[in-house]
Amino acid sequence: MNDLLIRNALLIDGLGAPPLRGDLLVGDGRIAALGSGLDARDAREVIDADGLALMPGIIDSHTHYDAQLTWDPGASPSPALGVTTAVIGNCGFTIAPCRRGDRERIMRNLTQVEGMSLEALRAGIRWDFESVPEYLDLLERSGTTPNVACFVGHSSLRSYVMGEAAVERAATEAEVAEMRRLLLEGMHAGAVGFATSTSPAHNGEGGKPMPSRLADEAELRSLVGSLKEIGRGLFMLTKGGQTRMDFLESLAAQSSRPVLVAALLHNSTNPDAVFADLDAIAAANGRGRRMVGAVSCCPLSFDFTLHSPYPIEGLEAWKPALGLK
Ligand SMILES: [Zn+2]
Repeated sequence: MNDLLIRNALLIDGLGAPPLRGDLLVGDGRIAALGSGLDARDAREVIDADGLALMPGIIDSHTHYDAQLTWDPGASPSPALGVTTAVIGNCGFTIAPCRRGDRERIMRNLTQVEGMSLEALRAGIRWDFESVPEYLDLLERSGTTPNVACFVGHSSLRSYVMGEAAVERAATEAEVAEMRRLLLEGMHAGAVGFATSTSPAHNGEGGKPMPSRLADEAELRSLVGSLKEIGRGLFMLTKGGQTRMDFLESLAAQSSRPVLVAALLHNSTNPDAVFADLDAIAAANGRGRRMVGAVSCCPLSFDFTLHSPYPIEGLEAWKPALGLK
């Protein structure tokens, strides 16, 4: 006897095959049979899906739920849209590690770079943590609805170790060593990798670059290299146009870890760039590296005003008008 029969569903297998109407039988927590007209007497419970869609849970590989999950473990609205796993800490914009005195700055940066409401962040974030392990413990205790996979975030590591200087200069060897220690601490506590951003579009409060953008190649090489030590995890970055693919390939080679390159969006002002990046990723895989390009299944769009001109802050020609250097 099986546990569950779901009948008359529009079955979507998640592998790209055309949807089929049919039945799905579950036994011992696994799919026992797929077909049409499966026998209801084979299952303890029968659900008539009546034409609803039935599909594997969606893994949302690029979210910024880090703050929201502390007050909304349900990750609204993602589960209602079919998401069963959310990856957080993308671009390195985490909220841990964070000292008490740095909370306001981290929130103000998120307000700018991810368009979050400062009022919501101030009212909502449960600051029951300082370190990455303590943050992961908080998520565990609160029991998130979707599965959550968390990166250790480069910008937060930099702010924690370097304070205000995180948005002004490259790190010293001693500062890189301390970031490396904190990264490994997070990995040992269950983080899935290390995330950063080199994108000129990523600016924090006052249009200042997010801390990770001040990192030099030696800093990235050391931090990504630490994943080799642990033998687990991946390196995720949101790539600025100036970051060379051969550099990223060298990181994949040296760390023996996968490198996930986001966000490969088509840009009509530079229409070949994204395809050149995808070709470079394919070539690197041909040389035995593990590299993945993160693309979007729909166009990116967002609203802005000249009071909060996020999309144009990264454009050189606008900087004088915005009072930015
Ligand atoms: Zn992101």
